[in-house]
Order: sequence, then C-alpha cells, then structure tokens
Amino acid sequence: MASKCVEGKVIVVTGAGRGIGKEIALLAAAEGAKVVVNDLGGSTDGEGRDTSPADEVVAEIKKAGGKAVANYDSVAEPESAQKIIQTAIDNFGRIDAVVNNAGILRDRIFHRMSVVDFEMVIKVHLMGSFYVSRAAANHFKEQNSGAFVHFTSTSGLIGNFGQANYAAAKLGIVGFTKVVALDMARYNVTANCISPFAWTRMIGTIPTETEAQKARVEKIKKMGPEHIAPVAVFLASDEAKEISGQVFGVRGKEVMLFGHMRPLRSIHHDLGWTPERLAAMFPGTLKHHLAPLDTSGQFFNYDPMV
Ligand code: NAD
Repeated sequence: MASKCVEGKVIVVTGAGRGIGKEIALLAAAEGAKVVVNDLGGSTDGEGRDTSPADEVVAEIKKAGGKAVANYDSVAEPESAQKIIQTAIDNFGRIDAVVNNAGILRDRIFHRMSVVDFEMVIKVHLMGSFYVSRAAANHFKEQNSGAFVHFTSTSGLIGNFGQANYAAAKLGIVGFTKVVALDMARYNVTANCISPFAWTRMIGTIPTETEAQKARVEKIKKMGPEHIAPVAVFLASDEAKEISGQVFGVRGKEVMLFGHMRPLRSIHHDLGWTPERLAAMFPGTLKHHLAPLDTSGQFFNYDPMV
C-alpha cells in the first residue's frame, strides 16, 4: 500500500471547525498528519465564539484513529495567531504546514460599506493570513522546510458585486503569497493559493432574490467542500515541494491553474503620450484587449463536474 502523503507532518488548519477547513483537517489526519484544528466558532460575519465546531472535528478525527488538538484563538490578532502555532509546537513538537483558511463575509454594496465592515474582512483574511504565517515563518526557516496554503477567491481574481472588502483581502492574499514564496524559497518553503468553489454556510449568505441569483446558488450547492481538501493536502505534502507562488482553482472535480497578471499588449509613441494621442490610438490597440466588467458567476457559468 502507498504510504500516506502527509504522514507524521504537523499541520495547522485555521477555520477548521466547519466547511472547507473541516474537510481539509479530516483528510490531512486521514493522510497521517497531526492536525491543529483552529476555529473560534463565530458567525459568518465574525461575531460570537463557540468551542464546539473545533471540538467536534477533533472528536471525529480521534474516532477515526487520527491525531488532532483543538485551538479556539482568532487568526485576526498577532498574539492569538502566535498561540495557534504554539499549540502545534506544544502538542506535537513542530510545525510543517499552515493552511490559512479561516474567513468571514460582510457583503455590502460599495456606497453602503462601513469602515468596520471593510476593516473586519481585511483583518480576518489578509492580516490573519499574515499573522499566522509570520508566527510559523521562523520555525520553517530553522528546519529548512514548510508549506503555506492560502485561500483566495474569484471574487478578487475576477470580481463580484458587494464584496469590495473581500475582493481586496483575497487579491491581497495572492500578492502576499507570491512574495512569501519568493522570500522563503531559499529555505525550501512553498506558498500557494487555492481559489475554491464549495457549498458552505458562507455561500449560504448569497442573496437569492432574482432568478439569476437562484440559478447561481443551485450550481454552487452541487459542489461540496470535500473536493477542495485533496488539493490543500497535496500542496502541504512533499509531493508539491517544487510548486510555489501559484494559484489553483477547485470547482467540484475540476482543478485549474490560474494565470498571473502580465501585460496583454503595449503601445508606444516616439513623441511620448498626450491625452489626445492616447484617445486616437486607444480604439485600434488596447481597446481590443479590455477585460469585460463581469463577475465570477458570469465567467464560471457552466455546470460544475461533481
Ligand atoms: P465557513 O464559514 O464554512 O468556514 C469558515 C470558518 O472560519 C468558520 O468555522 C469560522 O468560525 C472560522 N473563522 C472565522 N473567523 C475566524 C477567526 N478570526 N479565527 C479563527 N477562525 C475563524 O466558510 P468556507 O466556505 O469553508 O470558507 C473557507 C475559506 O474559503 C475562506 O477563506 C473563504 O473566504 C474561502 N472561499 C470559500 C468559497 C466557497 O465557495 N465556499 C469561495 C471562495 C473562497
């Protein structure tokens, strides 16, 4: 029988009490990892606390013969993020991979988005990914190995209504991941992003007032969070040690590799540009390459393979 892909590794999964994080924690444990199941057990918008989601996942892992410990600290503060990584060190003696999956949503059309709604979402997703990763970085450097798996979204990569806060955080995570990958390559540390599609309570907050919204949600309902877990566990394993700085999409049984921002076409003028020259040249040149102002739901409008 083939050996398990993350046998003996210590993996922290944030937001692992529910949804995608839970499936990653269960699969990582089944594949031989010792797992820190972190979850503060809040509501979708980040209010409240509850220890039971993390406890239930730990109980499920132990029942199946795996090794896991719960942690209820928030990713969104530097000191508590430090405690999440310390939980791995205290209980299992090391840290091999960090899966930054915890997340909240505070959707609002932009002209009604409050400072708090914007800041909270940036704090949990972008700052939280930084705090938890930073707490692990020195351990990774010292042991000359490690893997970061971060979560982005097509809300940032493509676009979506009412999610200026979330899109900013999620595209910020892509830039963050690329530079962590560059900085830590010399220590054999990888950093990659997953852009998932999965029916979880988070997606349950999408409004279903119009027929188009209803149809979109029906499509998402077919995609379970269990499809995301194998990609996350693979990226945490030694099998993926040559893969870094990448963005993968997972949509049911479909796994995709995203392109990176590169110029599509450029133009020059030997006299330099004036607004008038640009107005004259633009229609025949760059205009042909403009990206449509579309949303993730419009771009990914085909039925998922499930
Ligand atoms: P979910 O709401 O089911 O799970 C998120 C978990 O994170 C919850 O259990 C919550 O308690 C926990 N959490 C929230 N704030 C936390 C904090 N400060 N500290 C610790 N834990 C915290 O959501 P999900 O759909 O499983 O989302 C997982 C990740 O995938 C998120 O980063 C999300 O943005 C991303 N994502 C999901 C989808 C999708 O289709 N479900 C799409 C794009 C991106």
